Amino acid sequence: MRLSDLPTGSEAVVVKILGHGAFRKRVMEMGFVKGRKVKVLLQAPLKDPIKYSILGYEVSLRRSEAHEIEVDPVDMKPQQQETADTNKDTPYCDAKTETCVINVALIGNPNCGKTSLFNIASGAQEHVGNYSGVTVDSKTGHFDYRGYRFNIVDLPGTYSLTSYSPEELYVRKYLQDETPDVIINVVDSSNLERNLYLATELIDMDRSMVIALNMYDELRASHAELDYKALGKMIGVPMVPIVAKTGEGVDELFDAVIDVFEDKHEAVRHIHVYLGSEIEKMLRQLIDAIKENGGVTQHVSPRYLAIKLLEGDKQSEQEVLASDGGQKIIDLRDQLVKDYTDHHNDDDDIESVIAAEKYGFIDGALAETFKSPEKDSMTTTRIIDAFVTNKLFGFPIFFAIMFFIFWATFAIGQYPMDWIDDGVAWLSKMVNRWMPEGVLKDMIADGIIGGVGGVIVFLPNILILYFCISFMEDSGYMARAAFIMDKVMHKIGLHGKSFIPLVMGFGCNVPAIMSARAIESRSSRLITIMINPFMSCSARLPIYVLLIGTFFSEHPTIVFMGLYILGILVAMVTARLLRKFYFKKDETPFVMELPPYRIPTFKASMRHTWAKGEQYLKKMGGIILVASIIVWALNYFPIHDDANYVAETEAISPNDSYLEMAGKVINPVMEPLGFHWRASVAALAGVPAKEIVVSTLGVLYTNDEAVTDQKLGARLEAPNPVTGKPDFTTASALSFLVFILLYCPCIATVTAIAKETHHWGYAAFSVVYNTVVAWILGFIVYQIAILL
Ligand code: GDP
Ligand code: MG
Repeated sequence: MRLSDLPTGSEAVVVKILGHGAFRKRVMEMGFVKGRKVKVLLQAPLKDPIKYSILGYEVSLRRSEAHEIEVDPVDMKPQQQETADTNKDTPYCDAKTETCVINVALIGNPNCGKTSLFNIASGAQEHVGNYSGVTVDSKTGHFDYRGYRFNIVDLPGTYSLTSYSPEELYVRKYLQDETPDVIINVVDSSNLERNLYLATELIDMDRSMVIALNMYDELRASHAELDYKALGKMIGVPMVPIVAKTGEGVDELFDAVIDVFEDKHEAVRHIHVYLGSEIEKMLRQLIDAIKENGGVTQHVSPRYLAIKLLEGDKQSEQEVLASDGGQKIIDLRDQLVKDYTDHHNDDDDIESVIAAEKYGFIDGALAETFKSPEKDSMTTTRIIDAFVTNKLFGFPIFFAIMFFIFWATFAIGQYPMDWIDDGVAWLSKMVNRWMPEGVLKDMIADGIIGGVGGVIVFLPNILILYFCISFMEDSGYMARAAFIMDKVMHKIGLHGKSFIPLVMGFGCNVPAIMSARAIESRSSRLITIMINPFMSCSARLPIYVLLIGTFFSEHPTIVFMGLYILGILVAMVTARLLRKFYFKKDETPFVMELPPYRIPTFKASMRHTWAKGEQYLKKMGGIILVASIIVWALNYFPIHDDANYVAETEAISPNDSYLEMAGKVINPVMEPLGFHWRASVAALAGVPAKEIVVSTLGVLYTNDEAVTDQKLGARLEAPNPVTGKPDFTTASALSFLVFILLYCPCIATVTAIAKETHHWGYAAFSVVYNTVVAWILGFIVYQIAILL
């Protein structure tokens, strides 16, 4: 009987917990474990929640939650309570009583052999047919095996769990109302791809299940090879090959069912079928809303419900609406769907995108575990994949694409950059000409225009880079890149899945670090987070564009790409070191999704790009503006006489501005890297945000009245009036680039590291380690460069 039906004052022993995995885990953590005694303290017929005492504690459960707990009243079987209490590891099961039952449901596509399996297992003689629609309703059978009584149900065949056909509705209702203990998903092994679609939906449901790979004889006959053990581990569901027609493998299948029922099968792991960043973002919001309204999800997992709602499933909608606060969830769903459809073409509706992503998940899982001599059907996706994931062409294609992106960022970005640059120079000239002399004019001309203006010119480059990254992600190419990178990533102790956060780091490390959440293994996630700052983010781009354009104008793309590659190499070495000395080896296999290719709509790409542009402009008006004014003020005060270049002596003199003093104090540390004190100050100022490095240079190199309308690059190259030499040489520019690439992450990134790792230690480590590495490599690069 169910716990919710137990009257006040009576006692019972917990038999099993129904419902989805997360719910079961939560209830078990409260103490409702198989074999434990529970007493009803207070249960009024209409009262919710109900109070129980378990292990001497008082807990209350909602009535609907208590309904998911099956119990055995103590009074009826007093003798069993002893054994159950003394040894909770022994399954509370005895073949002669009702309580040792495992309810099993057979679910699968039409014609996959469910009825054949049902017959051979239960000894029944249901009609087996080689056409769909033979099983119209469910048949129940029983048999005993290894001390368990199995109640087995043969459900109608269904391709998915939508609510379009009566069969699908029937199966769904059965799963929700009857909550079978273990689901056997029967799969036709000779048609894995289509059959596994249903499995992805059952995975979303987070229910105990085993996959029966039926018709394995046909798979063997076709000379295909399936590493079903690896596949099962990857998707977290045990897989057992069977031939239902002959009974081969059926014992093993039910052995696996028992192991799953007893929570001791090693392959069982709840995974999320990743549905792409856009859908996942919507899901997160919906799941939060669903969790706040706890009443809706004892039967189904919040994730499953959220996916169904996004698909526009009417059945789920009604269920949600019937619960308290359900309207809020539906309103949120409507809002999310509207936002989505506003920005996508009609044929990109959410339901088909989710389906496509699921097939991408299956394709990816099979690509690693399934080899078939049969020719693949020639879909566009397959044809493209034949090239981009090819052993020979995959890498050259990837590098060509990356090269193109860096070239575009640099070369195409040059034109709009020059226009903005001209505009900034013009503005500065106007201010110098028309504003009255004084502190205010100096602040506007040197502090604000010099600083913010110096950075804002790089907006086009950043937008181009973001456009390319979001195009790679949305088109489906990024997943392929991750796929071919899997082997390389394994060499550094990571998984292909870590690759996407790393490429996203080229845009901004903060969202990239957050996206590492998709990596389920903790150690891989932490390593991915820790090495992410070495992925050169777009905030560092202005420094590269400025210095490369000035000092390496002959081969800009090579130097540009070289810096990114250096960052990647340092990341790889760091990952290896972390794996070797800090984290243990991690072997958890993951599915690498291969979603179908899509040409991203111009609208969606522009929207992503513009969102970044907006963020960038906000940063300009906020932290960069403030930092520019502070740097300017520190350089302006204390007001020194006009011969301020006298201060260019090594020793700190009373004529120095605060900034000069600070620069000279830290400069001895940076001098081995060829840094002039202004470079040291710029690097220091860049700690809050890397853009400030350039804005600081902008502020520091404006004092020459005669050349204020000159571009910043030219000002850097101009000889220092005191030393007679330029502050930056090719060698010191290079070491400066390397140092800025690698040193301490910006404050936002450090915070993100602390937040995502739940530990300030990791953030602190990253600050110290990265700075030390930056110094060492900057030193090496400078020493080599001056030799050449
Ligand atoms: P259901 O629609 O899922 O109930 O599938 P059935 O049990 O009615 O089986 C459909 C067809 O597949 C029948 O012709 C079975 O004989 C055949 N079949 C079932 N299991 C196997 C198997 O393991 N190997 C082969 N080769 N055929 C099978
Ligand atoms: Mg059948």
